[in-house]
Amino acid sequence: MPKMFKKKDAEEKALKPRRGKFVSRLRGMKDILPDEYKYWNLVIKKATELSKAYGFRRIDTPTLEALELYERSSGRGSDIVAKEMFSFVDKNGDKIALRPEATPGIVRAYIEHGMFNLPQPVKLLWLGPVFRHDKPQAGRFRQFSQYNLENIGEASPVADAELIAIAYYFFRELQLDVMTQINSIGCANCRKDYLVKLEDFYKERGRRSKLCNDCKKRLAKNPLRLLDCKEKQCQELAGDAPQIVDSLCEDCRNHFIKVLEYLDELDIPYNLNPTLVRGLDYYNRTVFEIWPAFAESQAGKPADAEAAGKVEPPRQNALGGGGRYDGLVEYMGGRETPACGFGIGIERVILKIKEKNIPLRDEEKGDVFLAQLGDQAKRKIMKLFEELRKAGLNVRQAFSKDSLKSQLEAANKMGVKYTLILGQKEVMDGTILIRDMESGIQEIVDYKKIMGELEKRLDNGK
Ligand code: AMP
Repeated sequence: MPKMFKKKDAEEKALKPRRGKFVSRLRGMKDILPDEYKYWNLVIKKATELSKAYGFRRIDTPTLEALELYERSSGRGSDIVAKEMFSFVDKNGDKIALRPEATPGIVRAYIEHGMFNLPQPVKLLWLGPVFRHDKPQAGRFRQFSQYNLENIGEASPVADAELIAIAYYFFRELQLDVMTQINSIGCANCRKDYLVKLEDFYKERGRRSKLCNDCKKRLAKNPLRLLDCKEKQCQELAGDAPQIVDSLCEDCRNHFIKVLEYLDELDIPYNLNPTLVRGLDYYNRTVFEIWPAFAESQAGKPADAEAAGKVEPPRQNALGGGGRYDGLVEYMGGRETPACGFGIGIERVILKIKEKNIPLRDEEKGDVFLAQLGDQAKRKIMKLFEELRKAGLNVRQAFSKDSLKSQLEAANKMGVKYTLILGQKEVMDGTILIRDMESGIQEIVDYKKIMGELEKRLDNGK
């Protein structure tokens, strides 16, 4: 081969970009692809509409907050803070964390923006991503999204019942069967006596040796957490442990009874669950979780203790959870302020909707497709597209395609009812064709009257 060619080849090779190394997404992280957005839109629309109806107003907080915010609120000993937080030191040497849950940031914002000066309670709706360095598996991600409601400034049990009711309506209106698990963990006063009883129980007759290693440590630091340990042997022991509801002080007992009475009044089903405690330091009184109803995915399986509660056995599948946190605002530097809230995991809700094959309207479907033939027609129809879109019509196009056949194929895929076809002849005549995509019948109409013609046909089709 002549030398000249070799040199040219080498130059061309050097100019051609090399295929680079592919960097995949991080473990436990998820892309939301266009096909999945219809589920997100449905769930977010439902959450926003429902919350608005109950007087909740939207708030957003930053994804990054001071690490101390979570250490102080969720608690250094909680799994979220001790094991699962994404935290780092930033370029200024400040300790920062990616939000592992929404409540602490919302409470910080409530105090920082003087929301205690507003009429109370302040009812807040929050939607956003949450980060936990959890072990990824089905329905468990390291970045996931939550729908949170917080009612700050209301001590009445009505507020607890309202939250549980909203969560229930949210799932019911999405056609998902759930069962609310509910318990009261009392206040610091009644818990003191109960914790002594609980410790005595676990120390009795070699029970301690049956506990998992984590629970052996928890027994000294936070014995309440022994009740909701996920290990089987610990769950069995927890089933026999003294129940906190039996140790509630009068105020806490009355508060809990009221919550249950309101739920009964509203016909909201619940399961009293004595081992439900939630893993965070700030909860008091009412705690609850929303679990998928047993019948939904476990139909036909043998009845066991949890089936009696009509729930799917593993509580790691919870769709949402929440409770009252009357001490948190003050503890975080604000005034004494009662509060309660919940968080629902959006990915898990979507998984359930998919499991149930609930048919969803395809939002990408349009009403009218605009097809063109020739450069002049293309220019004219691009303007028409904008006019129709502005007038509120659900229009679609594929202006980069030139052949009518491929444009009609695209129109079919987009599920439109009508296609407008503009060619050279129609441009000259001041007309346009309307094609009924179902029957294939085409009509010539006056270009100037197209809007009225479309409205007439689309209205008739309703
Ligand atoms: P929690 O604050 O832990 O009670 O979480 C509230 C809700 O968020 C849970 O009931 C789940 O629906 C959801 N959730 C919690 N952790 C994860 C996770 N790692 N991946 C996906 N969803 C989660």
